[in-house]
Amino acid sequence: MQSEQAVIYVAGNPDLYPLEYYDGESGSYQGAIPAFLEGFARSYGYDVRYLEPGAEDRRADYAANQQVDLISGCLADERYDHTVGEPLLLFSGESEGEESAYLLYFISVAPQGLQDDLRAYAARTTQAQWTGEVLQAAQEAPPGRLSPGAIWGMAIAAAVLLAALAVAIAGWVRERRRQKLIVLTDQETGLGTDEALAMTFSRLARDQSRRFYDLICIHLDLDHVGYLWGQEQAAALVLYGAGLVRERCGPGDLPVRSAAGDLLILKRFVDKQQAQAWVQGLVEAIRAFPGVGETLTAREVSAGVCPLELEYRSLEQTLFHARQCALAAGREERDCRLCGTQQCRGCQERWKLLADFAQGLDQGEFQLNLQFFVDAHTFRIVGGEALSRWKHPRLGLLSPDRYIPQLEEDGRIRELDFYCLEKTCAFLEDLDRQGVRGFFLSCNFSRRTFSTPDFSQRCLEIVRRHTFTRKLLILEVTESQQIDQRQAEQMLQNILEIRDNGIRVIFDDFGMGFSSFHDLQDYPMDGLKLDKVLVDNMWTQRGRIILRALVETGHKMGMTILAEGVEEERQIQALQELRCDVLQGFRFSVPLPEEEARRRILEESCFRPEQAGGRE
Ligand code: C2E
Ligand code: MG
Ligand code: MG
Repeated sequence: MQSEQAVIYVAGNPDLYPLEYYDGESGSYQGAIPAFLEGFARSYGYDVRYLEPGAEDRRADYAANQQVDLISGCLADERYDHTVGEPLLLFSGESEGEESAYLLYFISVAPQGLQDDLRAYAARTTQAQWTGEVLQAAQEAPPGRLSPGAIWGMAIAAAVLLAALAVAIAGWVRERRRQKLIVLTDQETGLGTDEALAMTFSRLARDQSRRFYDLICIHLDLDHVGYLWGQEQAAALVLYGAGLVRERCGPGDLPVRSAAGDLLILKRFVDKQQAQAWVQGLVEAIRAFPGVGETLTAREVSAGVCPLELEYRSLEQTLFHARQCALAAGREERDCRLCGTQQCRGCQERWKLLADFAQGLDQGEFQLNLQFFVDAHTFRIVGGEALSRWKHPRLGLLSPDRYIPQLEEDGRIRELDFYCLEKTCAFLEDLDRQGVRGFFLSCNFSRRTFSTPDFSQRCLEIVRRHTFTRKLLILEVTESQQIDQRQAEQMLQNILEIRDNGIRVIFDDFGMGFSSFHDLQDYPMDGLKLDKVLVDNMWTQRGRIILRALVETGHKMGMTILAEGVEEERQIQALQELRCDVLQGFRFSVPLPEEEARRRILEESCFRPEQAGGRE
């Protein structure tokens, strides 16, 4: 027995319910095996820790790197590196005439004392005790992990005959494995799945031959194809591309259809020239997609190649680089970009930036700047817009164009959006406490964030934590990303819910990007912010006609019209003539740090209750 508590590190099987599984709700491993190890630890004075609990199966990596003492929840046909001694048999059962055994492996770093103690403890534990623990684990598990019928079946089995329970579990585990095998192939395209890629990659990662392989990402901009030619053509393009990829891949290659919508290929090449020529040929072939009657462009189909030889990178990192290169190739109107070459700039920097993002939010590295809005006729400050800035510990103060596009692409923009909303509400509450009346503040939300199902709920949760007049808060819907029909419907519902709560919603950057006259028909908004490019173009006759039409239409629909990016005196006059209501731009104020903006607002007497009158 140990005199001091020695720590045992375990790599667990996240998906071997009810023997051992990762429970997302508690963020820990649960089931009969963890309970067994707990019992052992208590009796023998050890401290058991599952390494990095998570839903991903990391056992092969942890064994290869000798990071743990025990590899648990193993099936008899699984093999791991660096194991020592005989595996410990934890549980066995029989189903459909097949024997199933569940094992625990010792890794060579496990102290000999631990091996002896654990074998001694296991020898004292009877199959009956075990079965009791398994049954308890099955009953304690969150609903949905096993069908009620199966639990009932197991309970009956236990009551009648313990051996029958073993049969039920063995059969169930095998069924899960069968389901897993199917998931390795995408039914629609016949290509591999992300899971298949993860398995092959982890095997390859330890192999000397990894340096001969490249991961290719063929990026298909399905949103754009869907927007131009309809969703059916977008779906047909995936099948067409997948067919070409399958045809051109050899037996040693792994073609994959990723859940993110791209086609991926793990392929061995002789050299970079061969890789480039192969990828180029493939991209050209996909662009000749017959479904749309014209050759597709780099905007719709582009490729990025990330060689596996580039230092050690995880699959996630390699994929990120390949995808970034594909997107960059699309933007630069090229077929393909090769990661790590002269052409490839900024990939690694973007990766690091995204990796720093969570910590940046936690540490309060994001701050608000406020840019004022003025009344188009009196030029008095009426409100402001909250714009984020990242005070990055290594890179200094970053403006939004350095991180917003990456966060949008990565899907993490919503975290920043809600964070800024929290700060915006806190600012409004502070003004309210200081007796300021009538100053409104807007904050930005990407269309993607605005169109998620839990958007209004999260928004309102944040708003309710703060005291201020609701209509002083304005949500700007930005224009950077396209959304599909389902998301558009969700966005409409969200707009209605938000406005029902007295909060105002306006379109930002209207007239550019993906916004159109359709949007005026589809969404009931409180206002329109005309994009800077429209304001800049108002000197042309056509530009002026468009602007006039937008202002008139907006007004007829009861909306407030704001103009952004106002820099010159003559623009002001023209915008007044067009009857714009509110102006914003460097001509009036640049974005100011929060503190400075607060000082300016408190100096403005018009926001005092006696002056503000009916402004709200
Ligand atoms: P936006 O919402 O259209 O904000 C206006 C941008 O134009 C700001 O850039 C502002 O500094 C700049 N601007 C204002 N007046 C003038 C002018 O007279 N001339 C010129 N040339 N520029 C002017 P900023 O602060 O760099 O923000 C860029 C964009 O980043 C914003 O555009 C907004 O869409 C986005 N953004 C900022 N913070 C957030 C955020 O928290 N969430 C989301 N989703 N987007 C954000
Ligand atoms: Mg904005
Ligand atoms: Mg704007």
